[in-house]
Parts: sequence; C-alpha cells; structure tokens
Amino acid sequence: MTITLPGSDRALRPGKVLCIGKNYAKHAAEMQSAVPTEPVVFLKPATALIGDGETVVLPPMSQNVHHEVELVAVIGRGGKNIAEAEALDHVAAYAVGLDMTARDLQSKAKQKGHPWSIAKGFDTFAPLGNLAPAEAVPNPQDLHISLMVSGEKRQHGHTGAMVFRLATLIAYCSRIYTLDPGDLLYTGTPEGVGPVEDGDVLEATCTGLPSLRVTVRRD
Ligand code: MG
Repeated sequence: MTITLPGSDRALRPGKVLCIGKNYAKHAAEMQSAVPTEPVVFLKPATALIGDGETVVLPPMSQNVHHEVELVAVIGRGGKNIAEAEALDHVAAYAVGLDMTARDLQSKAKQKGHPWSIAKGFDTFAPLGNLAPAEAVPNPQDLHISLMVSGEKRQHGHTGAMVFRLATLIAYCSRIYTLDPGDLLYTGTPEGVGPVEDGDVLEATCTGLPSLRVTVRRD
C-alpha cells in the first residue's frame, strides 16, 4: 500500500510500521499486564497495511483475532535522536488505524518469551484510514477514538489517557530507528479489545480524522 503525504504529489510506500503496546493503563489491565515503565515497541511489516474499504483476512493459523483501534501518526520529516520538544513537528498527518492481533498466537509467544512478529504481522493486519494533515489535529492528546464492530460499540477511549504521549514515543523510537518520511506509528489501543469474526464490519473513528471501514473475511 502507498500513502501520499499532505502537500506532496508523490506516493510513498511506508518503510516502517512502528507500534506501541500497552499504552493505555486500562488496556494493560484487561491484558493482566503491568503498566509499562518504558514504551513497549514492536514492528509490523509494510505488507500488513490495507486501506479504507479493504478486507481483513483471518489466517488459518489463528482462531482468535482481536481488534485494537489506535491513533496513527505519519512521519513527514525524518530524523534520528529527535528531541521530545520538536517531535510533533515531524508528524505530517494523522489517521485512525487498527492493530489486528492474533491473540492466541500472541499468548503462546508471550508464554515462551518469543517475539510477537507472527501474531501481529499477518497480511491485512494493519488497516489504515485516510490521512488528515497534521494541522487538522491541534492536540493529538485530546482525541476521542472508538470502534464499532458490526454496529455494536466495542471500544472507546481518549488519547489523553496514553501512558506515553506521542511526542515521547517519537523521541524514544528515533533513538532506536532512523525515522523516514512515510513511517507510521500506531500509538496503542484503549480498553475493550475483543475477537472479530468472518463477516464483521469494523468502523473506526477518531476526532477530526476520516473514519476507517473494513470488512473481515476468513481465509
Ligand atoms: Mg496495539
């Protein structure tokens, strides 16, 4: 999938899909996890990305795929060791996204101390809504974010409840990875995660952003 940054006419294929785990205390609690004292960072491959109107495909390897609705920041200006005070200047756009998770495979991986790359990385496991320019979001920590599954409200949260704020996350990630234009940062999910089934329609919304609608199909 490609994205086009606001003010640009060049389509980019995102190089990195950075994701943050357990970034809302109530979600950490529902996962029976402690609230992290440092950001929990993992990556998805770019092949997991799909756009609005596309289809999440449930893989045969998992019997329990969960939805996680998240605010996504799109990097416009890259950098390394970005200062927290300047971090939001590196964001070109925002979108609402879904961090689809094979919870059964993730639980097994956690038990064994293995990485989450399989549980989080299947094709179609990173739906991304259409982008809104960063100027449309005066404060990324003051947004309501929600998810309906086949007409039923399943998740609702407020980005003010993030454990680590977006600026902190960008600064932190940029100490590890050089950030490039088009990189995506999924900022973690509020509580209310749960399974999706063949035929479900997922509708994600976030204040000031285009909504995201995808359907679910079992492979
Ligand atoms: Mg997540």
